[in-house]
Amino acid sequence: MATLIDDTIAAISTPIGKSGIGVIRLSGQDARKITESVLSAPQRVLQDHTTTLRSIKCGRSGRVLDQIMVTYFQAPRSFTREDVVEIGCHGSPVVLKAVLGLLLDSGARLATPGEFTLRAYLRGRIDLIQAEGIRAIIEAKTLFQAQIGRQQASGSLSRRVSPVKDVLVRLVAMLEAGIDFADDDVAITPDEEIERQLKSISDRLKSLEASFPLGRLVSEGLSVAIVGRTNVGKSTLFNSILAQDRSIVSATPGTTRDMIAESGELEGVPVRWMDTAGIRGTADSTEKIGIEKTKETVADADKVLLVLDGSSDLTGEDLDLYGELRNQPFCLVINKIDRPQRLHEARLGKIDGPVVRVSALTGEGVDVLKGILVGELEHLPMFEKEGAFVTNLRHQQLIGGALVAAVAAASSLSQGLPHEVILLDLYRALRALNALTGETTVEDILENIFATFCIGK
Ligand code: GDP
Repeated sequence: MATLIDDTIAAISTPIGKSGIGVIRLSGQDARKITESVLSAPQRVLQDHTTTLRSIKCGRSGRVLDQIMVTYFQAPRSFTREDVVEIGCHGSPVVLKAVLGLLLDSGARLATPGEFTLRAYLRGRIDLIQAEGIRAIIEAKTLFQAQIGRQQASGSLSRRVSPVKDVLVRLVAMLEAGIDFADDDVAITPDEEIERQLKSISDRLKSLEASFPLGRLVSEGLSVAIVGRTNVGKSTLFNSILAQDRSIVSATPGTTRDMIAESGELEGVPVRWMDTAGIRGTADSTEKIGIEKTKETVADADKVLLVLDGSSDLTGEDLDLYGELRNQPFCLVINKIDRPQRLHEARLGKIDGPVVRVSALTGEGVDVLKGILVGELEHLPMFEKEGAFVTNLRHQQLIGGALVAAVAAASSLSQGLPHEVILLDLYRALRALNALTGETTVEDILENIFATFCIGK
């Protein structure tokens, strides 16, 4: 790793294209020297944590290439814990490329994608979870997602994981010492104490894992399928929802010609709305493929809105659809309430889900419908306050893996198996948590063994 981070890297940090300003960043031990070498005399010397107006000179001709604002962050008080320089140029792609070219000619190497953050991680400035938080901020589609990313980048999840790891490391150290120094005067930890610590580990991991279903919603968004027979008003409802949703972020064609999908947001959570043209039976083979695909999409949706026409009674097709969808998280939408109502709800039997009455035409009740969907997200503020969402599948799997191992350790303990067996599970749990934060623990364990037990031999 040492050779990898011994050189100085440089890259244009803002998107390529015309803009007011564009920023070039350098990181590494020569960042300052390289930058100073391309500045016009006499004002070359950079001051730590200070932004100054300078000029960059063109290599051979010595002409001024651009006036820049340059900021120097002396190590270790910088993003990467190395010397960092940020150069704010005019946001012209040709100027930015020329300045970057000068820096590369003067000894910098072009950074690979994510290399600044990688260095921050390798230098111990942030852990892996925090690095992923930075990526989440940059890739956020809604402000809420960006906020969750920021919490993660500032270490909210890491702060909840690290006490679990501390307990694990101490437990491993205690058991290892008990085995290694069994003949010496090291007290063997009583089983009740091991059990108590294992329970504390499992409880904390369980609570982290429990935040994932909502965390996944935050990161991936909610998919809502609008389903119903022809003419009940699906398209009208779809348009009514979207017309009210002023924050539509993109429009994408549906995966099949039977479906239209649009993205919006509810309370900062991205929502993908899908208007399905119907899942009716057909003899046409191409249409059949479309229908199968629509069925798959509906089966994968987080929420299904089953639309019924309140101005006519239930048809066999309505009942079939209801029968098919009732095991999925659905919401029954009775549409066309602006017309005389003829629907006999009793024919549906006991309805295990919310029922909303709307008029897609006049917009009446559409807010209530959205409120119900937002209600699904009502636990969000709680997790947000705790500040430790598991939003990422990689995190969820590792936390789940650590939990399984901790539970296995508790089971081995209750069966009276030797500590060597319990240790195998504990190491498995540790490996999972280490992979989560990207840390190694051999030293941690050794330090703990020798610090907690004054062996003196
Ligand atoms: P879809 O086939 O389910 O997508 O149904 P459409 O959205 O195309 O609507 C079918 C017909 O019902 C159209 O003539 C709409 O104008 C009408 N419609 C839809 N929603 C309402 C409503 O809430 N009230 C009334 N009166 N008509 C509606």
